[in-house]
Amino acid sequence: MSVPRLDIDLRKIHDNASALVDSLGHCGISVTGVTKAMLGCPAIADAFLQAGVRSLGDSRIENIETLRTAHVSAPIAMIRSPMMSQAARVVASADSSFNTEVEVIQQLSAAAESTGKKHGVVLMVELGDLREGIMPADLECTVSEAFRLPGITVRGVGTNLACRYGVVPDQESMDRLSALADSIEATFGLTLDVVSGGNSANLKWAFGNVHTGKINDLRLGESMLLGRDPVDRRPIAGLHTDAITLVAEVIESKIKPSRPTGATAQAAFGDVSIPGDRGLVPQAILAVGRQDVDPDGLQAQPGVEISGASSDHLIVHSGRERLPVGTELWFEPNYSALLRAMTSPFVSKVIRPVRAGNSPAGPTEG
Ligand SMILES: *Cc1c(COP(=O)(O)O)cnc(C)c1O
Repeated sequence: MSVPRLDIDLRKIHDNASALVDSLGHCGISVTGVTKAMLGCPAIADAFLQAGVRSLGDSRIENIETLRTAHVSAPIAMIRSPMMSQAARVVASADSSFNTEVEVIQQLSAAAESTGKKHGVVLMVELGDLREGIMPADLECTVSEAFRLPGITVRGVGTNLACRYGVVPDQESMDRLSALADSIEATFGLTLDVVSGGNSANLKWAFGNVHTGKINDLRLGESMLLGRDPVDRRPIAGLHTDAITLVAEVIESKIKPSRPTGATAQAAFGDVSIPGDRGLVPQAILAVGRQDVDPDGLQAQPGVEISGASSDHLIVHSGRERLPVGTELWFEPNYSALLRAMTSPFVSKVIRPVRAGNSPAGPTEG
């Protein structure tokens, strides 16, 4: 099987998604399954949907189109504000989108009208992390403009924290979002379907608290795929952290000095740190590098330690043991490493088990 590769265990992803859907269900919160880190992979979307997620979300129109081409029929939200230049594609493939700019919503309305559809809009509110969002004082005005557009249905409000500055979602920010939703409903005499409280970083708040207020949806990617809480990257109790692993192959294995010889300057990626002298040590090189993965985001299998990386090489130590050339080693990727590996054409993606209905038994490789 080709290396480097991502081994993707659908059963474990299903387990993770199902555990989160069930426990959030007890808090009255449904889950939007976010597929962007998996580039809109239909098999992952199926695993999420079979686990009970209510809808799917992705930040790229290309990924949403991939899902539609594979006949995924669940509701899909575009969770990054659409580019005006892509309004027609967004309306064609996504049921709804997250928005912060009236000009964009006008374009979406025009595109929807010309195809005789209504496009759903969730208005994102800025609550402190300073990424996307309408300032709370401007929300009512934006709602009233969106409300008047013939191709648009205002479906709800949402917020996103923890992504730019790591602002932690807490009771205060969630209460603010609930209060904004209440006031929009009262002012416009409508019921919002969606009050989307945030991403995987909201789980501690959701599980630690019974006052979910009007929050009825969370958008989850990382927690379901990697089994970790993005706030501290700790494993979430009961979830698998090895549903996705990166596998790479040893191409050189030698005993070498632990310190370099000669005067040193910047290395290929600017690193200037030199390790302490541990004498001669076994060193192995794997055929994977920064072009394929973020090496700082890899956790090696037990007994193996990552000691350096360049574009095409990952250097590891494995105690006293010399690893035979050709050995495959596995690593758990963090979100950054996963994103890059999914996006690298040099890393194959192996999904197990194959989807029901695909004939020859065995993994699918892409
Ligand atoms: C990526 C993204 C998510 C999912 O975040 P995770 O941390 O992977 O759960 C949710 N909402 C928005 C707006 C996003 O861009």
